[in-house]
Amino acid sequence: MRETGCFALKGNIIYPDSIDQIRYVPKGYLICENGKVMGVYNNLPEGYLNIRVTDYGDRLIIPGLTDLHIHGPQYAFRGLSMDLELIDWLNENTFPEEARYSDLEYAKKAYTIFVNDLKNSATTRACIFGTIHEEATVLLMELLEATGLKCLVGKVNMDRNSPDYLCESSAWSAKSTRRWLKDALKKYKNVAPIITPRFLPTCSEALLKELAALSEEYMCPVQSHLSENIAEVKWVRELCKEAKSYSDAYDRFGLFGGKVPTVMAHCVYITEEEIELMKKNQVFVAHCPESNTNLSSGIAPVRKFLEEKVPVGLGSDVAAGSSNSIFKAMAAAIQVSKLRWRLVDSDLKPLTIEEAFYMGTKGGGAFFGKVGSFLEGYEFDAVIIDDSSLAHPQPLNLKQRLERVIYLSDDRHICDKYVSGSRIEIRDTVKDLRQLM
Ligand SMILES: [Zn+2]
Repeated sequence: MRETGCFALKGNIIYPDSIDQIRYVPKGYLICENGKVMGVYNNLPEGYLNIRVTDYGDRLIIPGLTDLHIHGPQYAFRGLSMDLELIDWLNENTFPEEARYSDLEYAKKAYTIFVNDLKNSATTRACIFGTIHEEATVLLMELLEATGLKCLVGKVNMDRNSPDYLCESSAWSAKSTRRWLKDALKKYKNVAPIITPRFLPTCSEALLKELAALSEEYMCPVQSHLSENIAEVKWVRELCKEAKSYSDAYDRFGLFGGKVPTVMAHCVYITEEEIELMKKNQVFVAHCPESNTNLSSGIAPVRKFLEEKVPVGLGSDVAAGSSNSIFKAMAAAIQVSKLRWRLVDSDLKPLTIEEAFYMGTKGGGAFFGKVGSFLEGYEFDAVIIDDSSLAHPQPLNLKQRLERVIYLSDDRHICDKYVSGSRIEIRDTVKDLRQLM
């Protein structure tokens, strides 16, 4: 059963107000009107006294989380070969696994697992890479559409510097992307296409130009990778000699924001000039701390992005990140920021809980519009968390409970989930819990 119209959820409401402030409303009412947040109140206001209220008791109600960077086909090998570095990891795991998605039967098996786990997580919005395969990408979109999650999904483009078994001809890559895009724009309510050059080295100049033209023609957002690793930055310098930087290389092809929303994963090695360009074009950073640790890529200067007002959210980057949890990404973001401060640059202070929570909610959510907060007019994306099984002997306030959820919880603690005011059917055990309430 789905709920729309006007209703309220009652519980301990927690949401980011700004980058460094979280609001805590104990036993409050969160009102939804036509899929949008109407407001958060201590008592139901006049005119809303008769609306349906679902009482979640002492549970926590937070905005849905946004994953700005995840690879659907890589979910199958999450947790494997985590002792390799980027290039070996790509050649040994990623490319051979992604090639399997030419087989639709395999794709169905793998994507069903991926989509089901995403549905049961605290994520309500995600930017997802598929593979080069058009049919498998359509299948992924159909499976996601049925969940009610709001996702942007990309058919990946690769026409050079890729293994033979995972390399398209330039003409085919452009043609099939256009066909897929036109079709996908008409078909879905919850999911939408996003232009997805894998990264600059795997796309020829002609293809990059074609993708930029497609993006402009259909006002379609763009996602890719940027400055993940030192050898890659050097490689791009050789491939694109006229560009001033890696960011400038994308910008020269018209794939670096300005006209359409654009998100770049990693951004570990970024110059001051690139930061200026990102700010000007409002390019989003998908900060992927676990991935950057697992593949020894480095530590992105996130505090700098926040100070300079470059939009930043978090990415799980499965399978370079082992988990799809954006709570884990929040914790990892704080952890790596401390190492960066200690080992690389003592001028950039470590991140706070408020900042990490902001990036996983309102910061990344902004890529999807007014998403990731309970301020009036925001999309009604909410996750209800039951933290009662995280035992403790001492009294805890709401901030401490949120911190423990970030560091200690997993999907079993999620007991309900809404996207744009519609309830998402999560795992069966939750239904039993709901009957008990
Ligand atoms: Zn990635």
